[in-house]
Amino acid sequence: MRMKNTPLSRHSQKVLALLSKSATPLTAYDLLDRMRASGVKAPPTVYRALDALIERGLVHRIESLGAFVACHRCEEDHAAAAQFAVCRSCGTAVEILDRRLTALIQKIGKTMKFHIEREMLEVLGLCARCGGKARA
Ligand SMILES: [Zn+2]
Ligand SMILES: [Zn+2]
Repeated sequence: MRMKNTPLSRHSQKVLALLSKSATPLTAYDLLDRMRASGVKAPPTVYRALDALIERGLVHRIESLGAFVACHRCEEDHAAAAQFAVCRSCGTAVEILDRRLTALIQKIGKTMKFHIEREMLEVLGLCARCGGKARA
């Protein structure tokens, strides 16, 4: 992947650290709030930092939430394909990363003669912890 080995900017490193620490996905404005103390005031700074991280596959965007998470499976190169289970109660987004899903989506694209550029698969529901509570 392009630029993978060039060093990350100071802002990208900060954004990655904030996302890695957070239990739930953060929006660009959540990140901006947490970065004000280090002198970051403009949203474009945050967006540029996020773009660089997404390009390297270190961060994913959760489309349904408009928020971002650090990739916890970076050892596997899968920037183009990330799948998430989003809990509507506690807001956690767990990365699924099942290659069978990616293979199936590619196959469907082929059948439809549809050129897939980006795969976004998100399922919404209750995680084991929240679902367990609801039934208790
Ligand atoms: Zn990932
Ligand atoms: Zn939950």
